Amino acid sequence: MDRQKGFAPKNQMQGQRLSILIIGAGLGGLALAQGLVNAGFNVSVFERDKSPTSRTQGYRISIRSLGLAALTALLTPEKLNRLSLAKVANVGDGVTCANEKMEPFFSVPQGQDAAAQFLRSELRNLLQEGINIEWNKRLVTFEDNGNQVIARFEDGSHATGDLLVGCDGGVSTIRELFPLVYGNSLGSIPKIVSSNHAILGGQIDRTPEWDKLLPLNKNGLVRFVGPNAHSMAVCFSERADRSPTVFWVLSEKIEGRDASWYQFDQGLECRTRILDHCKQLMRNETWHENLKKLVYDTSAEAIMAPWRLRTTQFPDSNQFPMVPTGRVTLVGDSAHAMLPDRGLGGSNVLEDARLLSTLLASSPKPVDWPKLTEEFERQMFTRARIAVQESENAAEYFRNIRSTPPSESN
Ligand SMILES: Cc1cc2nc3c(=O)[nH]c(=O)nc-3n(C[C@H](O)[C@H](O)[C@H](O)COP(=O)(O)OP(=O)(O)OC[C@H]3O[C@@H](n4cnc5c(N)ncnc54)[C@H](O)[C@@H]3O)c2cc1C
Repeated sequence: MDRQKGFAPKNQMQGQRLSILIIGAGLGGLALAQGLVNAGFNVSVFERDKSPTSRTQGYRISIRSLGLAALTALLTPEKLNRLSLAKVANVGDGVTCANEKMEPFFSVPQGQDAAAQFLRSELRNLLQEGINIEWNKRLVTFEDNGNQVIARFEDGSHATGDLLVGCDGGVSTIRELFPLVYGNSLGSIPKIVSSNHAILGGQIDRTPEWDKLLPLNKNGLVRFVGPNAHSMAVCFSERADRSPTVFWVLSEKIEGRDASWYQFDQGLECRTRILDHCKQLMRNETWHENLKKLVYDTSAEAIMAPWRLRTTQFPDSNQFPMVPTGRVTLVGDSAHAMLPDRGLGGSNVLEDARLLSTLLASSPKPVDWPKLTEEFERQMFTRARIAVQESENAAEYFRNIRSTPPSESN
């Protein structure tokens, strides 16, 4: 791959390895890179973050059997052996749904669908190993001449390859550039839309006292569904330094990005504003004292950036590949963001990565790009459409469950 001078990819001139450009070093980009490097491709990942540590990676992620099977296919046996080190121990892998008084409605038992809890930072560290990642590279545009793709970055540099994969998350620059680059000759492009719900949260040291105050959490994550379609999810986890912690997130409806508590610039003032908003919300409603205490005892420093939740609207047609040359495609949230209510997003991202790397590895060379990409997108979107719908159904269920008073819904 030539990165600065804009030459044609070497593999086309000299019969060398195919170059795959991956935009985004999130779960999808890194998992895909692992699979493709193992299959012998020349892979480069470009990430807009300044460094691997410039942004906290959130708390734990629950990966189901679909995602675990994908990881098994993507990782070398040696890395797979070390995958268990990225798990969070002693936090339960079941899910309980309760009302705001901490009275449970139902629970999904531990061991269901083989769910395993991973520390996001550790999983990312493992997936970064052996991958050529260029940090501080924000893709701003790309070109596709049918024989090669050129990714252009904010700092003026560029990279040339055979395939460009947008693993750049729900607000994907690559997806947004499609109409500009290809005009009217696009296939079916799913639309990622913001839901009108946001998530605010923080964490606090996990102590034996919290284990007593949050007894339902010994089986795993608990979703407390409160009045006014507010809900609070609480789980035990660990920080990146592996110190035990209790994570809580409150989800609520927002009408726009301009809500004062939604603004975030990493500063303490913002975090304090968000915390004050959460405290007020708890104070004004009938939440259990222990849940109120969880919010009240959290320090402003431990408040996280808010998440605006996204979902996907699929077009009626299934015309793939999305772009006519088949040399640009999407993986993960950039293709099919989904609400977190069923915890299916990450597993689908990993399965996308497995599918694309398997199809690429088994494709006859020279690659028929439109054919390969069509096959990938058809399979990916058929599966993701179902997961997006299941996630929306679950969100709808949680929002409506409290239209009956807590005592009646037991
Ligand atoms: C609150 C919450 C809880 C969740 N819990 C679970 C769970 O328990 N289980 C589960 O399976 N899923 C869960 N998910 C979903 C899961 O986290 C996502 O589906 C998954 O992380 C998406 O991975 P991705 O690689 O597609 O995107 P991302 O992780 O968003 O990665 C995109 C990357 O691209 C980079 N990028 C963006 N634009 C550019 C650019 N122009 N140039 C260069 N780089 C760029 C970003 O910086 C980022 O690093 C949850 C989601 C949320 C919001």
